[in-house]
Amino acid sequence: MQNLSEKMRDCFSQSTMMLLKKVGDISKDMGYKAYLIGGTVRDLFLRKENLDIDIVIEGDAILFGERLARELHGIIISHKRFGTCTVTTPEYIKIDFATARRETYVKPAALPTVEFSSFRDDLSRRDFTVNAMAISLNEGEFGNLIDYFDGMGDIEKKRIKALHDKSFVDDPTRILRGIRLEKRLGFTIEPHTANLIRKSIEQEIYKKVKEPRLRDEIMLVLKEKEPFHIIKRIDEFRALKIIHPYLKLHKDLGGIFTAIDEACGWYNNNSPRKRSVEKWLIYLMALFSDISHDGTMYFCNKFELKRGEKLRVISYNRQSGRILKTLNARRKILPSKIYRLLEPLSHEATLLLMAVSRSDIGKGRIMEFFHKYNGMRTAVKGDDIKALGVKNGAHFARIMEKILYKKLDGIFRTKEEELAYAKKLAKRRL
Ligand code: ATP
Repeated sequence: MQNLSEKMRDCFSQSTMMLLKKVGDISKDMGYKAYLIGGTVRDLFLRKENLDIDIVIEGDAILFGERLARELHGIIISHKRFGTCTVTTPEYIKIDFATARRETYVKPAALPTVEFSSFRDDLSRRDFTVNAMAISLNEGEFGNLIDYFDGMGDIEKKRIKALHDKSFVDDPTRILRGIRLEKRLGFTIEPHTANLIRKSIEQEIYKKVKEPRLRDEIMLVLKEKEPFHIIKRIDEFRALKIIHPYLKLHKDLGGIFTAIDEACGWYNNNSPRKRSVEKWLIYLMALFSDISHDGTMYFCNKFELKRGEKLRVISYNRQSGRILKTLNARRKILPSKIYRLLEPLSHEATLLLMAVSRSDIGKGRIMEFFHKYNGMRTAVKGDDIKALGVKNGAHFARIMEKILYKKLDGIFRTKEEELAYAKKLAKRRL
């Protein structure tokens, strides 16, 4: 039996180690058993930092979490239906606890029926051998590796292997999980598992999966460090249709993904108003750039994207070509015009425009928008306009807008100039 206590001490902070010991102590006291599990164990072997700590309890995980949270003065959030909870310690260490469970799949791709059961059953329901290892936290066996499926062997061979032949029939989301893990770790999906994946795709079992589960996996793909390699591999498996039936790998996509990274890097270093952008949405827009408006809407609705996400994806699709053409033009364009073109777009859509723009002129104008125009405010304020007898409403908004445009174009430099113009505008209906 391999003992990993030393490896754990090397990889985890002292407070995490103390916490894991505490978990062992409490589980003994409650007559339970506790095991570190899944990605936390896998990444321990790979010496990759994994801030998620997953623990399975043979016993009632919620009762366990409540006791731990009480003793540590931590915070607990429980999900009674699933028998899971998350405890956050005062040092902000977050641990997910689950009750050991067995899952039976009544129909292919259906949500599993959950029964609480033994720890071995819990490991057998996992996706890949490298994710099905555990480390005991119990007294007398603390640090012992439990590896029923030779996950260690597969880590050494750098391969992704399913636990059984029905794995992708039971749960086709594992197709995306497997490919993502393969590319993230630099492993290879072993030939038999690859065949099981192909078979599941041919049989289109993914069509039976509840859409939000697939959406979450698609999001996780796009949130990886290098999503293009994963997308390319999904395409090699002819599995892009899981995302959208007409999706094709655009030949420039690799270059565009790199350009997106560069645009986001520039934005993070240079944008004075750091509104955080959702990079995964930019990749998604790029992926869908050859799909029609209706096709994109179909995707957004089917996978129940949030309203804000949907609007951002759609806005790019509809207007990108026209805006880019104007921005790339050699002729002079007033700053207020650039502002009017880009201001209605999300920052994500604007960054994608920057990434796909082949012209330095276009890129430069977008940079200037982020750097200068987007943060510009008029010196006159709403109260100044109200003092002129203008009430809130369309007229009011139009006055503010016109002043801003003149300021953007460098015509106004002082508040007095803005005020004089406001007075003129206030007198006439615009
Ligand atoms: P990551 O670093 O991406 O978080 P992870 O392996 O910790 O990797 P999670 O999605 O947090 O991934 O899942 C935790 C564990 O739960 C996995 O390691 C795996 O054992 C199990 N798991 C998650 N999803 C599935 C699934 N669809 N089928 C079977 N087991 C799963």
